[in-house]
This record gives sequence, C-alpha cells and structure tokens, in this order.
Amino acid sequence: MNWIEEIKNNVATLDELKQFVTINEDEETALSMVIEQHPMSITRYYLSLIDPHNPHDPVRKMIVPSIEELQMEGSYDTSGEASNTVMPGLQHKYGSTALIISTNRCAAYCRFCFRKRMVGLPNREVISTFLDAISYIRQHKEITNVLITGGDSLILPTDTLKVFLEELATIDHLDYIRFGSRIPVVFPQRIIEDRELQDIFSHFTRHHKQVYVVTHFNHPNEFTPASELAVEILKKCGIVINNQTVLFRGVNDQPNILASLMRNLVRNGINPYYVFQCRPVKRVKSHFQVPIAEGYSIVEKAKSQLDGHAKRFKYIMSHKTGKIEIVGIMGDDIILKYHQAKDASLMGKLFKRKLNPEAGWLDELHDTYRPIIKNNLNRHSSTHWQSSL
Ligand code: SF4
Repeated sequence: MNWIEEIKNNVATLDELKQFVTINEDEETALSMVIEQHPMSITRYYLSLIDPHNPHDPVRKMIVPSIEELQMEGSYDTSGEASNTVMPGLQHKYGSTALIISTNRCAAYCRFCFRKRMVGLPNREVISTFLDAISYIRQHKEITNVLITGGDSLILPTDTLKVFLEELATIDHLDYIRFGSRIPVVFPQRIIEDRELQDIFSHFTRHHKQVYVVTHFNHPNEFTPASELAVEILKKCGIVINNQTVLFRGVNDQPNILASLMRNLVRNGINPYYVFQCRPVKRVKSHFQVPIAEGYSIVEKAKSQLDGHAKRFKYIMSHKTGKIEIVGIMGDDIILKYHQAKDASLMGKLFKRKLNPEAGWLDELHDTYRPIIKNNLNRHSSTHWQSSL
C-alpha cells in the first residue's frame, strides 16, 4: 500500500476508534456531536503511539476528540487571519512574509488546531488561483519568503508541490520557501515512501532556493524510528527543519517533558524555533490552554535543564497585532516584546502588563489587575467563524 492508499485507511468513525481506545456510552454521544462539527481523522501510525490503557495519554489528548470540545469560549480567528487576507488563500500580515493556505486537508486532524474553523471542512479560505498569488508576490518586492501552509501543505499531491516550487523559483526577491507541516510527526510514511518528492526537494534546494520545513513535534513520544527517518530524509534533501511547539495542558506542561522534547529535537538536528502560547480557540482554549504566568514558569524550568542550543527558542503569543515574546516576570508585572508586528512601528517594542495568574492571552492582561470573567453561555453553539471576529 502506498501513502495515498494508507491515508484512505485513517480512523474516521467512532466505531473504528473504539477498537483502539475505550469510550463509554455517555462520551460516545458527546463525541458524535463534536465530530459532526470538526471531523476526526487519525492515521493508523499516529494511533499506534497511544497507550490504550492510559486515558491521559498525551498523544491521545492531541488527536482523539474529547467532550471538552463542546466548550465554546474563545474565537475561531485568534490571529486576525481574516483581516490579513489579501485574496482567498493568501495572507500578508508581516511585510517580509506571504502565507499561502494551500489546502484544508491534513494527514490527521489535531484536536488543538487553531485553524479548526476550516481543516477538513468546506470553506472559501484555500487558494484557488495560485498564479494570482504568484503575481501578487512578484509585485511585492518586500516579500522575502513564502510560507505554504494549510491544513498540512505536504498532504498535497507531489505534482502540485512541484508546480508551487517551479513558480516560486522564478521570483528573484524570495530568499527561501517554508512548508508548514505536521506530516513528519503524524504520517512520516508520506515522506519516506515518496522518492519523487525527495528528488523534487533535492533539485530545488540545490539549484533554486533554500527550503525549510516548519514542523510541529509537541511531545517526546512523537519521536519514533519512522519520524526520525522522515526528518533525516528531508535533511538529506537539503531542507532545514525548524520546530514549533505549542504549550498544551496535559501534553507538555511539565518542565521535564518540555526539556526532553527539546533534547529530542536537537538530537535529530531540528531547530527549536518557537514555543507558542496556546491560542484562545473555541473548543480548544478551555482544556488545552495553560495561563501565561504558569507557562512562563514551565518554560523557564525547562530551559534550566537545557544547553544554549536546545533553549534558543522563544516563548511566543501569536496575537492579531503580532508575535509577542513573553520575556519575563518582574514583581507583579509581565514583560512582553513585539518580536514581529503587523504595525512595523511596534517591532521590537518592550511593554508590560499587570500580572494576572489566570490570564491566557494578551487581551486578558491590562495595565491594572482585572479579574477574568468567564463566559460560557454559548457552550453548544456552532457559530460560523466569521461571525466571531
Ligand atoms: S496538521 Fe496542522 S493544520 Fe492540520 S489539524 Fe494539525 S495543527 Fe491543524
């Protein structure tokens, strides 16, 4: 079976899932409601990483739907993606980077996804006219790099990826191309088995531009001989691999686990790039988000176990105004810094907010302490994402 056939064999119904993990009757009713809104699809490979006897298994938490997904606190567009969209499927938030939403599909649907509003669902956010996007990028000479994401960009057919690269190769002012993908983690077979894709990548990096794959390992259990082989193959193609981790409750919210994750990354030649604060996404925030103050403490304790190379990542909140680094806590202030900013005049700006131990996002931090009032009245609503902007 090749990778295209393998993926058709994903676990996508509760009846199939029950063969792998225990689900009681009450849970089953709630989970049906959840997957009606946000589909479930799990590769057999990723499912095999779950300990079926541990209801708190971290891989299970990331990929198996849960009742908590009925909690509607938060937004479906926490980073202001709608306002950064210059044409369907093309976002231009920061001057130097163009972001292409290349697909709404993934090898597996992570329950924590911040693009939950669109992955696996019909939508109008995916690029339809790639050549129009190329034309926009060609005209905007301030763009130095293109991030091809989704969904999962590497789930696209190999021929499509080849066309993308061939077109981008013709734009002189691009320094490099990035692919955002969790495929090395959830479905490494797609890389291992596709010799044609490997040849395309090798040719492009050798003769045209540098390619980066930005992947998304979140837990040490995601490192297996298969995922490590996929990483090794990408590196042999001349690709540089950066990793973005998100801090998730019940997954990697312990300093020793986070430190072990970083050690696994550097051991495999992957650059620890960002640790992201979990965004306040509907059906995600309530059970995945760790408050910023607690997150800072976890990150610093993890860093104290690591050498400089393994702790070069930044702890970042990807806010609609920019990428905000959580620099530190001094007394009852939290110190923040714009690492990237939509308004270029904010770039590098240091600022502070009054510490609130419960706050999970910039909008919950103020100049003076204000308690957070939780509003969960819309618990079972299925509001379309655009109405929540
Ligand atoms: S692979 Fe990425 S885009 Fe797809 S569901 Fe997971 S986090 Fe979301």
